[in-house]
Amino acid sequence: MVFEGLAEKLQNTLHKLKGKGKVNEKDVNDAMREVKMALLEADVNFKVVKDFVNKVKERAIGAEVLESLTPGQQIIKIVNDELTILMGTTQSKINFSSKPPTVIMLVGLQGAGKTTTGGKLAKLIKKQGKRPLLIAADIYRPAAIKQLQVVGGQVDVPVFSMGDKQNPVDIAKAGLEHAISNGNDVIIVDTAGRLHIDDELMGELQSIKSNIKPHEILLVVDSMTGQDAVNVAEHFNEKLGIDGVILTKLDGDTRGGAALSVRAVTNKPIKFAALGEKLDDIEIFHPDRMASRILGMGDVLSLIEKAQANFDEKKAKELENKIKTQSFTFDDFLDQLQQMKNMGPISQLLEMIPGAGKQLKGLEVNEKELVHIQAIIQSMTKQERQNPSLLNGSRRKRIAAGSGTSVQQVNRLLKQFEQTRKMMKQFADMDKGVKKGGKFK
Ligand code: GDP
Repeated sequence: MVFEGLAEKLQNTLHKLKGKGKVNEKDVNDAMREVKMALLEADVNFKVVKDFVNKVKERAIGAEVLESLTPGQQIIKIVNDELTILMGTTQSKINFSSKPPTVIMLVGLQGAGKTTTGGKLAKLIKKQGKRPLLIAADIYRPAAIKQLQVVGGQVDVPVFSMGDKQNPVDIAKAGLEHAISNGNDVIIVDTAGRLHIDDELMGELQSIKSNIKPHEILLVVDSMTGQDAVNVAEHFNEKLGIDGVILTKLDGDTRGGAALSVRAVTNKPIKFAALGEKLDDIEIFHPDRMASRILGMGDVLSLIEKAQANFDEKKAKELENKIKTQSFTFDDFLDQLQQMKNMGPISQLLEMIPGAGKQLKGLEVNEKELVHIQAIIQSMTKQERQNPSLLNGSRRKRIAAGSGTSVQQVNRLLKQFEQTRKMMKQFADMDKGVKKGGKFK
């Protein structure tokens, strides 16, 4: 799970505050000490942590918050706001040129995921109706060109290459010419990386930059490397000037330090997040949604978007309404399960459901378990699915027998379903509470 350790610690700390009817300055200070530790343990830059905690404290200790009816919730909202600001506030798009082709240059250290990300980006851009061309300008890493050709083939995007005997600057220039004469409106140049930053690499990248005049220089960094990723970003930005960052391997990054510090340290936006090795595993980076995920408030918007991308709009709207009005039933649950498989790894989807990441952690979702869950729900009557409170002992026994599972399994599912519903309700109430307060929009 993305940011698992951090998410759990922050959620626990803030949960304690939420449980209190009255909150005083000492409570806030205690909580902020815990928040500070959690962020430092997540490998967030020290200065960033200090600023963050001070800002939250300053806002939280104000009289309107402490004397409000829901101080704990207001403080969670402040933490959410400040986390969002830390990661850049708003979504940051690619600047497509009004005079195509738009030139995108991907830079970064070896192994950060440049080549893979080039393919992912090409696929994403192609979906927007554009005609991208990938350019293989990494002549040093063995097999980098071949790898880009394979990736290009998988996403059905052409790859321009001139082998590994030509100068990368010449390759980039020739690639740009090729795009112009072939009507490609976006080029994505895959440049060479090194294991460490060195002057020779920077010199080459600067030379490519001055020759092809990119509209976007996107730095690809491996988020698993934490503070190192932030240092790399700072360095590239100083030497080359970057327009944005793509964070890769967020699927494996349970700490989250890079994601939380890179924007504050470099002042450059995170534009995309990559969450897996497959060519679909890339998302536009939304700071507000990421903050909500970290605080266990889920990411209903991304969930809905994923649903929309995979299913018809009507169904996605229905899901949105059900989550909002808390009328999510076992029928919906079953429906979602059946469709989920098309939407990607289930653990990632669960994280997007408010509260589910934490609540369902023990569930260990695997395909086999899903078959059981499906069987249990299918053994319920229509009424039972709509109204789980009907499920008394004898009905549970009947369902277990009908689905080939045990009463314990049935009980476990019911409990988990109830917890999820409760979390959805809390999320909705919290939203309402904050809106009513009207202070922290
Ligand atoms: P490059 O040297 O920067 O071009 O890096 P590659 O594109 O060859 O990627 C290095 C390794 O990281 C490969 O094994 C990729 O499959 C893997 N990788 C890239 N992006 C991600 C990601 O978002 N998540 C995970 N888990 N692996 C990734």
